[in-house]
Amino acid sequence: KFITLEGIDGAGKSTQLAWIVELLQDAGKPVVVTREPGGTTLGEQLRALLLNKTMIMHAETEALLMFAARREHLDKVILPALTQGQWVISDRFTDASFAYQSGGRGLDSGKLAILEHWVQGDLQPDLTLYFDVPVEVGQQRVYQSKSKDRFEKEQADFFQRVRAAYQDRAKQFPERIRIIDSSRSLADVNAAVEQTLQPLLSH
Ligand code: C5P
Repeated sequence: KFITLEGIDGAGKSTQLAWIVELLQDAGKPVVVTREPGGTTLGEQLRALLLNKTMIMHAETEALLMFAARREHLDKVILPALTQGQWVISDRFTDASFAYQSGGRGLDSGKLAILEHWVQGDLQPDLTLYFDVPVEVGQQRVYQSKSKDRFEKEQADFFQRVRAAYQDRAKQFPERIRIIDSSRSLADVNAAVEQTLQPLLSH
């Protein structure tokens, strides 16, 4: 099975990733954990470029590189693991391109759909957990130890658009994408994740 985790920055994906791995391992499933941007040598190098805020690339360049890295990720990590019957958990996948490159940076989603089809064919995750939080909550978590005025208006607008794009995508694919209200307590979010995974774990 192929499971992906999505959400805006500070939504709590990383914390839940550890919980999901624990649930799967307890159920005796072989698990491979990976991430985007990242997952391969090429992907990790792209991640370093992307997170380098001094080098802002054109939104289309960013999207093309993201899908190029995804092609490599599928070939080197995801598809071989699935073929061997392993469970692949990816911290972000294509929905993040629709959220960040299209929602956030305004790229035409039709262009992304073409790249998606090119790179993935019909392959989609079996399940996507989308951790939904209000932008302010996500930002507070990210900047917990830092001063709150780092949360600038421009950044807030960007993340509002990213969140709205994730929500649209979840509406478009309600079977695959499950929305987890991640503004609740850790225990409540853990319980919601466990409940969502239960049907998959029983076979
Ligand atoms: O949550 P994670 O650490 O994986 O995210 C890394 C960063 O990469 C995020 O802050 C997000 O802004 C960015 N990103 C992006 N486009 C994607 C995926 C991630 O801009 N498709």
